[in-house]
Amino acid sequence: MTNQRVLLASRPVGMPTESDFRIVSGDLETMAAGDVLVQVLYLSVDPYMRGRMSDAKSYAEPVPVGGLMVGGTVGRVFRSNSPQFKEGDIVEGYLGWQSLALASAKNLRLVDPSIAPISTALGILGMPGLTAYFGLLDICKPKAGETVVVSGAAGAVGSYAGQIAKILGCKVVGIAGSDDKVKLLTDEFGFDAAYNYKTVTNHYAKLKSLCPNGIDCYFDNVGGAITDAVLGWMNTFARIAICGQISQYNNTQLELAPRPFTQILVKQARVEGFIVTRYFERFEEGRAQMAQWLKEGKLRYRETIVEGIENAPKAFISMLQGGNTGKMLVKVSD
Ligand code: NAP
Repeated sequence: MTNQRVLLASRPVGMPTESDFRIVSGDLETMAAGDVLVQVLYLSVDPYMRGRMSDAKSYAEPVPVGGLMVGGTVGRVFRSNSPQFKEGDIVEGYLGWQSLALASAKNLRLVDPSIAPISTALGILGMPGLTAYFGLLDICKPKAGETVVVSGAAGAVGSYAGQIAKILGCKVVGIAGSDDKVKLLTDEFGFDAAYNYKTVTNHYAKLKSLCPNGIDCYFDNVGGAITDAVLGWMNTFARIAICGQISQYNNTQLELAPRPFTQILVKQARVEGFIVTRYFERFEEGRAQMAQWLKEGKLRYRETIVEGIENAPKAFISMLQGGNTGKMLVKVSD
């Protein structure tokens, strides 16, 4: 059987381009005992992949030049040499940017299609949903009545984090990159207020007007000037979850920025970075709660779906530039 795979062709400098990827076709290896052959249906493209394209030291190994791009997938079991899975099962696994994959059964998770569309296993009921759930609950620890600001609010993680804060009874203000996204946040996702960071020059003044009682919690997906402004308007004992810094991922030089530690000191604020895998042991708890809220209609989600594995590089670059609303996915097969 022929497998289409997307490889890393070169390490990008600044924003990746399509020439940093190479698409190849090849045969699959032979199946061993315990192996499962998965036909990939959806592939997730995520901001962390920009880090894997670089060889700078990080919490995970880089993809080698010429290697298969890493990533989460949802697929259908095509053939199984394991008693754990049968033909036709829907599974989630970290199988990379390819159309078919041989995986060891122990690295796959069975997805129940009766709970929600299977694509949600890569979004609201997958890694991004768990990131929002644990980052908000465990690090921001918001209380009812508090003001929570979310940056990157119309993307996958941000849109879930803001809605969870609403479920908890908070006032929620979102920051996103277009007027349509701002409208979506207030009209569909129930945020109390939102603004377009691309048309506002004075973030501090904007935040002051939208958050008259100050900011108690900040769920940071973007970093940079937006975060500098949020830090200036925090309340005493504010909690800041550093989830992502996407405004910095394609920088070729470190930005000069204010030194925030005096503000953190005087506001006695707690700033904590986190990687969602730290909560691995609690993933099922998070997934069950997110599924429950989804079923109750308390959570909503959007997806932006690009067709064809050959368009995965385009989808990834578009996501880095804000081309997605909600979770960006590549549909690999029907
Ligand atoms: P996403 O928000 O669905 O997509 C990325 C979004 O980033 C784009 O849609 C774009 O929206 C925004 N963006 C791009 N450049 C920006 C800039 N210069 N300034 C402000 N916003 C910018 O992606 P996601 O998967 O949900 O991830 C969101 C963040 O969480 C990322 O920083 C990611 O690295 C992080 N994350 C962390 C963990 C963890 O374990 N800590 C896990 C998952 C994700 P606009 O149109 O609004 O600009």
